[in-house]
This record gives sequence, structure tokens and C-alpha cells, in this order.
Amino acid sequence: MNKIPDATPEIREQIHAEAVADRVRSIRERIAAACERAGRSPEDVTIVGVSKTFPMQAIESGKASGIDHLGENRARQLRDKALQRPGRFKGGDVIWHMIGHLQTNKAKFVARHADWFDALDRLSLAKELNERAAKNNRVLPCLVQVNVTGEEQKYGLDPSAVHDLLDRCAQYEHLAVKGLMAMGSFVEDPEDVRGEFRKIRELFETYDATNNPRVDMEELSIGMSNDFEVAVEEGSTMVRLGSAIFGPRDYE
Ligand SMILES: *Cc1c(COP(=O)(O)O)cnc(C)c1O
Repeated sequence: MNKIPDATPEIREQIHAEAVADRVRSIRERIAAACERAGRSPEDVTIVGVSKTFPMQAIESGKASGIDHLGENRARQLRDKALQRPGRFKGGDVIWHMIGHLQTNKAKFVARHADWFDALDRLSLAKELNERAAKNNRVLPCLVQVNVTGEEQKYGLDPSAVHDLLDRCAQYEHLAVKGLMAMGSFVEDPEDVRGEFRKIRELFETYDATNNPRVDMEELSIGMSNDFEVAVEEGSTMVRLGSAIFGPRDYE
């Protein structure tokens, strides 16, 4: 079954290249201003355009605005989109990130089609992804997902278990752990997630990767449409933006 949503006339208008270009321009300005406040360079912040639930035209519009990194949260939808527009590790010109919770039995889709896996949250999944990546003769860049909000979120690793998982990933030659990812709490005032972002940044900065050949702490993926400026101020290197780029979605 094809998992790529249809382009209705309303959605077509919403994700039209010019509409997307306008939103991306304003997002880049806001990122630059947040960088300025934090004494950072905007070049150190990558935008991942979250194309989930949107048709292929969203990807073309994003690409036309310089968005090369794309995020999907369902393995089958990522596969179907990547079959139409392959990622960089297959010679394509976009970089597919699987950003959502992954059931172990769908690890094969990620190993075959995703450039990055941004939601690694358990050792058993690391083991499976490593085996699948080996079968595909590749190394899969990953981010470890941390649950910094406590009870609210189902997914992500408890902060106290993060460094241990990173240590254990040393055995997986077909994984390259590049950093951490988290989602902030859903709150009205983005200021309220600053503490959560500081918590993950501390975990990010205090991991000693010198003796771990599989880990390089390069990327901190925090910040979504509602809180990306606070995330950039707190050190985000990858913001994952869906509605801010493509407009509202009907469903997650
Ligand atoms: C949907 C999603 C996003 C983007 O959400 P927006 O609020 O539309 O920016 C980012 N990260 C993850 C893991 C998501 O599932």
C-alpha cells in the first residue's frame, strides 16, 4: 500500500513553493536572531524539514528553499517517499531522517532507506539496526533520543541511562552515534522548556567519547516549530520543523 498522502487542492496551496519559501525565509531570520543572542553562528544550525503527512510536492518545495534534510516519523511513509526521492547515501540529493519511535520489526526500512535514525532509545534496537545496516553494507548515523520531560512522553531514554547506552554502542560497527535528540514538553510558553533543553545539553556536553570509536557528540537535535528559538539559544544544532515550514497538519 502506498503511504504517501494525496495532494488535495488546499494542501497543494499550503505547500506551494512560494508559500514554503516565505516561511523558510522568516524561520532563517528567527534562527539568525536566536544565534546572535547566544553568540553562535547560524551555519551551525541545520533545519530538518518534517514532511510527515505531506505529499511529495512538499519535498520539492522544501528543496527549492534549500531544505535538504527531511524528517519522517513513520517507517513505511519514509520508505515510500525515499523510493521516489532517494537519500544521499543512495546517491540522492536529500537527507532522510527517521525521527519517530521505531518498532524493532521495522528497523529494516530504516536501514534500507533512511540516511539518519534520530530516535535510538534502546539497546535491542541498536543491535537490530546494526545487523540490518551491515546487511546493507553501510554505516547508519544515529541520535540517541532522551526523555527530558519525565512522565509525559512515552518515548526516549531516561537521562540517567543515556551515557550507558552510548558506551554500549561502541560494539556496533555499522552505527555512528552523532549525538542526542529530545522533544520538549508541549507548552504554550516556549520559555517553559528551557530547563529541559539545558538538561539534555548537559548530557550532551558531559559525555566523554574519547575511547568510544562509534560515538562523536556533534549534533544536538532539539527544537520544533513552537520552541526552536529557545532550543537554538540553548545549543541546538538541528531543529526539526514541520508546521513552521509546511503549515498545519490534520494529524500527527
Ligand atoms: C512532528 C515532529 C516534529 C515537527 O513538529 P512541528 O511541531 O510541526 O514542528 C519534530 N520532531 C518529531 C519527533 C516529530 O514527530
